[in-house]
Amino acid sequence: MFMARFKILNNMLGRTGAVDAGASVASFPAARAGFHNTAELPVKAVEILKSRGLTGEQVDAMGWYAHPKIGDPNVARGKKVLAEEGMVDAFALVEPMLGNRTLDGTLRQVDVLNGCAHHCDTCCVDAPFPSTMFTYDSLVRLFDDTRFIQMLQNSLRFGAVGDILNHPQGVEIVSIALESTRGTVDTVKIYTNYRRHTEDKIDALIELAGQNADRLKVIISLPLNRRDNVNFAFQEYVRNRPQYFDVSGLSTWEDGMYFFFGDGPRLDNIVVQDVRHPRLLFRTGRVLSDAALKGRVESHDFVDPETSGATHGQSSLVKTYLNPDALWLKIYATIANSHTTSTYTVLTADKLGVLTYLQWHPDFPIPPRWQGGGGVEERSYGRPRLTGTPKPVVVADKK
Ligand code: SF4
Repeated sequence: MFMARFKILNNMLGRTGAVDAGASVASFPAARAGFHNTAELPVKAVEILKSRGLTGEQVDAMGWYAHPKIGDPNVARGKKVLAEEGMVDAFALVEPMLGNRTLDGTLRQVDVLNGCAHHCDTCCVDAPFPSTMFTYDSLVRLFDDTRFIQMLQNSLRFGAVGDILNHPQGVEIVSIALESTRGTVDTVKIYTNYRRHTEDKIDALIELAGQNADRLKVIISLPLNRRDNVNFAFQEYVRNRPQYFDVSGLSTWEDGMYFFFGDGPRLDNIVVQDVRHPRLLFRTGRVLSDAALKGRVESHDFVDPETSGATHGQSSLVKTYLNPDALWLKIYATIANSHTTSTYTVLTADKLGVLTYLQWHPDFPIPPRWQGGGGVEERSYGRPRLTGTPKPVVVADKK
Protein backbone atom coordinates (compact mmCIF):
# COMPACT_ATOMS: atom_id res chain seq x y z
CA MET A 1 0.00 0.00 0.00
CA PHE A 2 2.87 2.32 0.84
CA MET A 3 4.58 1.92 -2.50
CA ALA A 4 1.31 2.30 -4.36
CA ARG A 5 0.69 5.57 -2.56
CA PHE A 6 4.11 6.85 -3.54
CA LYS A 7 3.53 5.92 -7.15
CA ILE A 8 0.40 8.07 -7.07
CA LEU A 9 2.32 10.87 -5.38
CA ASN A 10 5.07 10.60 -7.96
CA ASN A 11 2.55 11.13 -10.69
CA MET A 12 0.87 13.96 -8.80
CA LEU A 13 3.99 15.81 -7.81
CA GLY A 14 6.43 14.95 -10.55
CA ARG A 15 10.13 15.66 -10.12
CA THR A 16 11.21 19.21 -9.76
CA GLY A 17 14.58 20.72 -9.01
CA ALA A 18 17.88 18.94 -8.72
CA VAL A 19 19.18 16.73 -5.97
CA ASP A 20 20.94 18.87 -3.41
CA ALA A 21 24.68 18.65 -3.80
CA GLY A 22 25.09 17.54 -0.21
CA ALA A 23 22.77 14.60 -0.57
CA SER A 24 24.11 11.44 -2.20
CA VAL A 25 20.66 9.98 -2.47
CA ALA A 26 21.89 6.88 -4.24
CA SER A 27 23.73 5.94 -1.09
CA PHE A 28 20.72 6.01 1.22
CA PRO A 29 20.62 2.65 2.89
CA ALA A 30 17.40 0.77 2.34
CA ALA A 31 15.10 0.80 5.32
CA ARG A 32 16.94 -1.24 7.94
CA ALA A 33 17.38 -4.77 6.70
CA GLY A 34 14.54 -6.92 7.87
CA PHE A 35 12.49 -4.02 9.21
CA HIS A 36 9.83 -2.69 6.97
CA ASN A 37 8.44 0.80 7.15
CA THR A 38 5.73 1.04 9.76
CA ALA A 39 4.68 4.60 8.98
CA GLU A 40 4.47 6.96 6.06
CA LEU A 41 5.78 10.43 5.46
CA PRO A 42 3.03 13.10 5.23
CA VAL A 43 2.27 14.50 1.80
CA LYS A 44 3.75 17.96 2.34
CA ALA A 45 7.06 16.50 3.51
CA VAL A 46 7.15 14.18 0.49
CA GLU A 47 6.47 17.19 -1.71
CA ILE A 48 9.42 19.10 -0.22
CA LEU A 49 11.78 16.16 -0.67
CA LYS A 50 10.63 15.70 -4.24
CA SER A 51 11.26 19.38 -4.89
CA ARG A 52 14.90 18.59 -3.99
CA GLY A 53 14.94 15.89 -6.66
CA LEU A 54 14.13 12.69 -4.81
CA THR A 55 11.79 10.07 -6.21
CA GLY A 56 9.08 8.47 -4.12
CA GLU A 57 11.11 5.26 -4.06
CA GLN A 58 14.14 7.12 -2.69
CA VAL A 59 12.03 8.73 0.01
CA ASP A 60 10.57 5.36 0.88
CA ALA A 61 14.03 3.78 1.02
CA MET A 62 15.04 6.10 3.87
CA GLY A 63 12.86 4.01 6.18
CA TRP A 64 9.96 5.49 8.18
CA TYR A 65 8.91 4.13 11.52
CA ALA A 66 6.00 4.82 13.86
CA HIS A 67 8.33 4.07 16.78
CA PRO A 68 11.87 5.36 17.26
CA LYS A 69 12.97 1.79 17.77
CA ILE A 70 14.70 -0.58 15.46
CA GLY A 71 13.40 -4.07 15.98
CA ASP A 72 10.26 -5.68 17.29
CA PRO A 73 8.54 -3.14 19.58
CA ASN A 74 6.60 -5.84 21.39
CA VAL A 75 9.50 -7.94 22.61
CA ALA A 76 10.51 -7.18 26.19
CA ARG A 77 14.02 -7.92 27.43
CA GLY A 78 14.53 -8.75 31.07
CA LYS A 79 16.59 -6.35 33.17
CA LYS A 80 19.50 -8.80 33.33
CA VAL A 81 19.60 -9.38 29.56
CA LEU A 82 19.25 -5.64 28.98
CA ALA A 83 22.22 -4.96 31.26
CA GLU A 84 24.34 -7.70 29.66
CA GLU A 85 23.45 -7.43 25.99
CA GLY A 86 21.66 -4.14 25.45
CA MET A 87 24.29 -1.59 26.44
CA VAL A 88 25.00 1.11 23.85
CA ASP A 89 27.90 3.56 23.71
CA ALA A 90 26.20 6.96 23.32
CA PHE A 91 29.39 8.66 22.17
CA ALA A 92 30.09 6.09 19.44
CA LEU A 93 26.48 6.35 18.24
CA VAL A 94 26.49 10.15 17.90
CA GLU A 95 30.15 10.61 16.91
CA PRO A 96 29.58 10.42 13.10
CA MET A 97 27.29 13.46 13.38
CA LEU A 98 29.35 15.47 15.87
CA GLY A 99 30.69 18.64 14.29
CA ASN A 100 28.05 18.58 11.52
CA ARG A 101 27.08 22.24 11.71
CA THR A 102 23.64 21.66 10.15
CA LEU A 103 22.76 20.06 13.47
CA ASP A 104 23.79 23.06 15.56
CA GLY A 105 21.01 23.94 18.00
CA THR A 106 18.75 21.07 16.96
CA LEU A 107 18.52 18.52 19.76
CA ARG A 108 16.13 18.92 22.68
CA GLN A 109 14.73 15.40 23.29
CA VAL A 110 16.79 12.45 24.52
CA ASP A 111 15.83 9.06 25.90
CA VAL A 112 18.47 6.90 27.52
CA LEU A 113 16.58 3.68 26.71
CA ASN A 114 14.98 2.87 23.38
CA GLY A 115 11.51 2.48 24.83
CA CYS A 116 9.63 2.38 28.08
CA ALA A 117 9.30 -0.41 30.60
CA HIS A 118 6.12 0.99 32.18
CA HIS A 119 3.91 -0.05 29.29
CA CYS A 120 0.87 1.97 30.32
CA ASP A 121 -2.44 0.81 28.87
CA THR A 122 -2.76 4.13 27.07
CA CYS A 123 0.34 5.66 25.51
CA CYS A 124 0.18 8.32 22.81
CA VAL A 125 3.62 7.31 21.54
CA ASP A 126 2.81 3.57 21.80
CA ALA A 127 6.17 3.20 23.54
CA PRO A 128 7.87 -0.09 22.71
CA PHE A 129 9.55 -2.19 25.37
CA PRO A 130 13.21 -1.19 25.80
CA SER A 131 15.84 -3.51 24.42
CA THR A 132 18.87 -1.20 24.60
CA MET A 133 20.14 1.56 26.87
CA PHE A 134 23.03 3.99 26.93
CA THR A 135 25.90 3.29 29.29
CA TYR A 136 26.42 5.92 31.93
CA ASP A 137 30.12 6.29 31.10
CA SER A 138 29.45 6.93 27.43
CA LEU A 139 26.91 9.64 28.32
CA VAL A 140 29.55 11.29 30.51
CA ARG A 141 31.91 11.35 27.50
CA LEU A 142 29.18 12.63 25.19
CA PHE A 143 28.14 15.48 27.49
CA ASP A 144 31.81 16.35 27.88
CA ASP A 145 32.18 16.99 24.14
CA THR A 146 31.66 20.60 23.07
CA ARG A 147 30.44 19.47 19.64
CA PHE A 148 27.54 17.68 21.34
CA ILE A 149 26.77 20.66 23.54
CA GLN A 150 26.68 22.75 20.36
CA MET A 151 24.04 20.36 18.99
CA LEU A 152 21.64 21.08 21.88
CA GLN A 153 18.80 23.57 21.97
CA ASN A 154 18.15 25.93 24.87
CA SER A 155 16.03 23.31 26.60
CA LEU A 156 16.81 19.62 27.00
CA ARG A 157 14.14 17.04 27.75
CA PHE A 158 14.62 13.49 29.00
CA GLY A 159 11.50 11.40 28.59
CA ALA A 160 9.69 11.45 25.27
CA VAL A 161 9.19 7.79 24.42
CA GLY A 162 10.50 6.51 27.70
CA ASP A 163 11.32 7.21 31.32
CA ILE A 164 14.85 8.05 32.42
CA LEU A 165 14.13 6.35 35.76
CA ASN A 166 14.03 3.00 33.95
CA HIS A 167 17.82 3.46 33.76
CA PRO A 168 19.66 2.28 36.87
CA GLN A 169 21.70 5.51 36.87
CA GLY A 170 18.90 7.80 35.70
CA VAL A 171 19.31 10.36 38.48
CA GLU A 172 23.09 10.50 37.99
CA ILE A 173 22.54 11.09 34.26
CA VAL A 174 20.33 14.08 35.08
CA SER A 175 23.13 15.43 37.30
CA ILE A 176 25.79 15.20 34.58
CA ALA A 177 23.45 16.76 32.02
CA LEU A 178 22.77 19.67 34.37
CA GLU A 179 26.41 20.18 35.16
CA SER A 180 27.84 19.91 31.66
CA THR A 181 25.23 22.17 30.04
CA ARG A 182 25.47 24.93 32.62
CA GLY A 183 25.71 28.24 30.76
CA THR A 184 24.48 26.78 27.45
CA VAL A 185 21.16 25.03 28.14
CA ASP A 186 18.63 27.09 30.11
CA THR A 187 16.34 24.28 31.25
CA VAL A 188 16.60 20.53 31.73
CA LYS A 189 13.17 18.88 31.84
CA ILE A 190 12.52 15.41 33.16
CA TYR A 191 9.30 13.60 32.37
CA THR A 192 8.82 10.58 34.60
CA ASN A 193 5.76 8.42 35.11
CA TYR A 194 5.27 7.57 38.78
CA ARG A 195 5.52 3.97 39.92
CA ARG A 196 5.90 2.64 43.47
CA HIS A 197 9.25 1.06 42.67
CA THR A 198 10.69 4.41 41.49
CA GLU A 199 9.69 6.39 44.60
CA ASP A 200 13.29 6.64 45.91
CA LYS A 201 14.48 7.92 42.56
CA ILE A 202 11.63 10.44 42.35
CA ASP A 203 12.62 11.65 45.84
CA ALA A 204 16.18 12.09 44.57
CA LEU A 205 14.95 14.01 41.52
CA ILE A 206 12.86 16.30 43.72
CA GLU A 207 15.90 16.95 45.92
CA LEU A 208 17.92 17.74 42.80
CA ALA A 209 15.13 20.04 41.63
CA GLY A 210 15.36 21.87 44.95
CA GLN A 211 19.09 22.41 44.42
CA ASN A 212 18.59 23.53 40.79
CA ALA A 213 15.40 25.52 41.06
CA ASP A 214 16.36 27.80 38.20
CA ARG A 215 17.26 25.07 35.68
CA LEU A 216 15.68 21.70 36.46
CA LYS A 217 11.98 21.05 35.90
CA VAL A 218 10.51 17.69 36.89
CA ILE A 219 7.16 16.64 35.48
CA ILE A 220 5.64 13.67 37.28
CA SER A 221 2.98 12.06 35.12
CA LEU A 222 0.37 9.54 36.10
CA PRO A 223 -0.91 6.90 33.72
CA LEU A 224 -4.30 6.59 32.08
CA ASN A 225 -4.68 2.90 32.81
CA ARG A 226 -7.62 0.55 32.94
CA ARG A 227 -7.35 0.67 36.74
CA ASP A 228 -6.40 3.70 38.82
CA ASN A 229 -4.24 1.94 41.40
CA VAL A 230 -1.03 3.71 40.32
CA ASN A 231 -2.84 7.04 40.68
CA PHE A 232 -4.05 6.11 44.16
CA ALA A 233 -0.56 4.96 45.14
CA PHE A 234 0.72 8.35 44.04
CA GLN A 235 -1.78 10.12 46.29
CA GLU A 236 -0.37 8.14 49.19
CA TYR A 237 3.14 9.06 48.09
CA VAL A 238 2.12 12.74 48.12
CA ARG A 239 0.48 12.53 51.54
CA ASN A 240 3.65 10.98 52.97
CA ARG A 241 5.84 13.83 51.73
CA PRO A 242 4.56 17.08 53.24
CA GLN A 243 8.09 18.46 52.85
CA TYR A 244 7.54 18.49 49.06
CA PHE A 245 3.79 18.62 48.51
CA ASP A 246 1.06 20.84 49.86
CA VAL A 247 -1.98 18.55 49.76
CA SER A 248 -4.32 21.47 50.41
CA GLY A 249 -3.19 22.92 47.12
CA LEU A 250 -4.30 19.97 45.03
CA SER A 251 -6.75 21.09 42.43
CA THR A 252 -8.80 19.93 39.56
CA TRP A 253 -10.21 21.81 36.62
CA GLU A 254 -13.76 22.96 36.11
CA ASP A 255 -14.07 20.80 33.04
CA GLY A 256 -13.49 17.76 35.21
CA MET A 257 -9.83 16.84 34.69
CA TYR A 258 -8.97 14.79 37.73
CA PHE A 259 -6.42 15.91 40.26
CA PHE A 260 -4.40 18.30 38.20
CA PHE A 261 -1.70 19.13 40.72
CA GLY A 262 -0.05 21.93 38.82
CA ASP A 263 -0.28 24.40 41.66
CA GLY A 264 0.08 21.91 44.48
CA PRO A 265 3.73 21.11 45.09
CA ARG A 266 5.74 23.48 47.23
CA LEU A 267 8.55 23.42 44.72
CA ASP A 268 7.61 25.57 41.76
CA ASN A 269 9.67 23.48 39.38
CA ILE A 270 7.81 20.24 40.10
CA VAL A 271 4.65 19.67 38.09
CA VAL A 272 2.28 16.76 38.44
CA GLN A 273 0.10 15.68 35.55
CA ASP A 274 -2.80 13.35 36.05
CA VAL A 275 -4.43 12.94 32.69
CA ARG A 276 -7.51 10.99 33.82
CA HIS A 277 -10.56 12.77 32.61
CA PRO A 278 -14.24 11.96 32.24
CA ARG A 279 -14.04 13.10 28.65
CA LEU A 280 -12.19 11.05 26.13
CA LEU A 281 -9.02 12.90 25.20
CA PHE A 282 -6.62 10.43 23.65
CA ARG A 283 -7.24 8.21 20.69
CA THR A 284 -3.79 7.87 19.25
CA GLY A 285 -0.99 5.47 19.91
CA ARG A 286 -1.87 2.65 22.29
CA VAL A 287 -5.31 3.23 23.73
CA LEU A 288 -7.62 1.66 26.23
CA SER A 289 -9.83 -1.19 25.11
CA ASP A 290 -13.38 -0.51 23.97
CA ALA A 291 -14.58 -2.06 27.22
CA ALA A 292 -12.42 0.29 29.31
CA LEU A 293 -13.57 3.27 27.28
CA LYS A 294 -17.22 2.38 27.82
CA GLY A 295 -18.76 4.83 30.21
CA ARG A 296 -16.40 7.67 29.44
CA VAL A 297 -18.07 10.75 28.06
CA GLU A 298 -17.07 11.42 24.50
CA SER A 299 -16.11 14.92 23.53
CA HIS A 300 -16.08 16.82 20.30
CA ASP A 301 -12.60 17.99 21.19
CA PHE A 302 -10.47 14.91 20.85
CA VAL A 303 -8.26 13.26 18.31
CA ASP A 304 -10.50 11.01 16.29
CA PRO A 305 -8.61 8.71 13.95
CA GLU A 306 -11.40 8.74 11.43
CA THR A 307 -11.91 12.46 11.14
CA SER A 308 -8.54 13.99 11.96
CA GLY A 309 -6.52 11.95 9.49
CA ALA A 310 -5.84 14.55 6.87
CA THR A 311 -5.72 17.73 8.91
CA HIS A 312 -3.13 17.35 11.62
CA GLY A 313 -1.94 20.95 11.92
CA GLN A 314 1.64 19.99 12.75
CA SER A 315 1.89 17.53 9.89
CA SER A 316 5.29 17.50 8.11
CA LEU A 317 7.04 19.68 10.71
CA VAL A 318 10.25 18.21 12.10
CA LYS A 319 12.69 18.05 14.99
CA THR A 320 15.45 15.65 16.06
CA TYR A 321 15.45 13.02 18.78
CA LEU A 322 18.15 10.78 20.24
CA ASN A 323 17.81 7.33 21.76
CA PRO A 324 20.12 4.27 21.91
CA ASP A 325 18.96 3.08 18.49
CA ALA A 326 19.83 6.22 16.56
CA LEU A 327 19.83 9.95 16.17
CA TRP A 328 16.42 10.33 14.54
CA LEU A 329 14.53 12.92 12.59
CA LYS A 330 10.97 13.00 13.86
CA ILE A 331 8.31 14.20 11.45
CA TYR A 332 4.87 15.06 12.81
CA ALA A 333 2.28 13.18 10.81
CA THR A 334 -1.40 12.51 10.46
CA ILE A 335 -2.94 9.48 12.04
CA ALA A 336 -3.46 8.19 8.52
CA ASN A 337 0.35 8.13 8.16
CA SER A 338 1.18 6.70 11.56
CA HIS A 339 -0.92 5.57 14.51
CA THR A 340 1.42 7.53 16.81
CA THR A 341 1.03 10.65 14.63
CA SER A 342 4.81 10.70 14.23
CA THR A 343 7.13 9.08 11.77
CA TYR A 344 10.84 8.66 12.41
CA THR A 345 13.81 8.08 10.18
CA VAL A 346 17.41 7.37 11.19
CA LEU A 347 19.45 10.53 10.59
CA THR A 348 22.69 10.09 8.66
CA ALA A 349 24.95 12.71 7.11
CA ASP A 350 23.78 11.68 3.61
CA LYS A 351 20.11 11.99 4.47
CA LEU A 352 20.64 15.22 6.38
CA GLY A 353 21.76 16.91 3.14
CA VAL A 354 18.19 16.75 1.89
CA LEU A 355 16.13 16.30 5.08
CA THR A 356 17.37 19.72 6.21
CA TYR A 357 14.92 21.21 3.68
CA LEU A 358 11.95 20.01 5.70
CA GLN A 359 10.45 22.66 7.97
CA TRP A 360 11.28 22.87 11.65
CA HIS A 361 8.48 22.76 14.21
CA PRO A 362 7.81 26.42 15.09
CA ASP A 363 7.15 25.68 18.77
CA PHE A 364 10.91 25.30 19.15
CA PRO A 365 13.86 27.56 18.25
CA ILE A 366 14.73 27.33 14.56
CA PRO A 367 18.26 25.92 14.30
CA PRO A 368 20.58 28.50 12.71
CA ARG A 369 21.72 26.29 9.83
CA TRP A 370 18.49 24.39 9.16
CA GLN A 371 17.82 25.02 5.45
CA GLY A 372 14.04 24.58 5.58
CA GLY A 373 13.64 27.15 8.34
CA GLY A 374 10.55 27.14 10.49
CA GLY A 375 7.16 25.89 9.36
CA VAL A 376 3.71 26.97 10.39
CA GLU A 377 1.36 24.96 12.54
CA GLU A 378 -1.81 25.30 10.54
CA ARG A 379 -4.29 24.61 13.28
CA SER A 380 -4.61 22.76 16.52
CA TYR A 381 -5.81 19.24 15.93
CA GLY A 382 -7.95 18.88 18.98
CA ARG A 383 -5.59 19.11 21.89
CA PRO A 384 -7.54 19.15 25.12
CA ARG A 385 -8.14 22.71 26.16
CA LEU A 386 -8.37 23.49 29.82
CA THR A 387 -10.94 26.11 30.53
CA GLY A 388 -11.89 27.85 33.71
CA THR A 389 -9.82 28.17 36.81
CA PRO A 390 -8.61 25.35 39.00
CA LYS A 391 -10.73 24.70 42.05
CA PRO A 392 -9.66 22.86 45.17
CA VAL A 393 -10.74 19.28 45.61
CA VAL A 394 -10.50 16.76 48.36
CA VAL A 395 -8.06 14.04 47.37
CA ALA A 396 -10.07 10.90 46.79
CA ASP A 397 -9.66 8.12 49.26
CA LYS A 398 -7.96 5.00 48.12
CA LYS A 399 -10.55 2.68 46.63
S1 SF4 B 1 2.69 6.76 28.69
FE1 SF4 B 1 4.79 7.32 29.20
S2 SF4 B 1 5.28 6.02 30.97
FE2 SF4 B 1 3.49 5.11 29.96
S3 SF4 B 1 4.30 3.59 28.50
FE3 SF4 B 1 4.05 5.53 27.39
S4 SF4 B 1 6.07 6.53 27.52
FE4 SF4 B 1 5.99 4.96 29.14
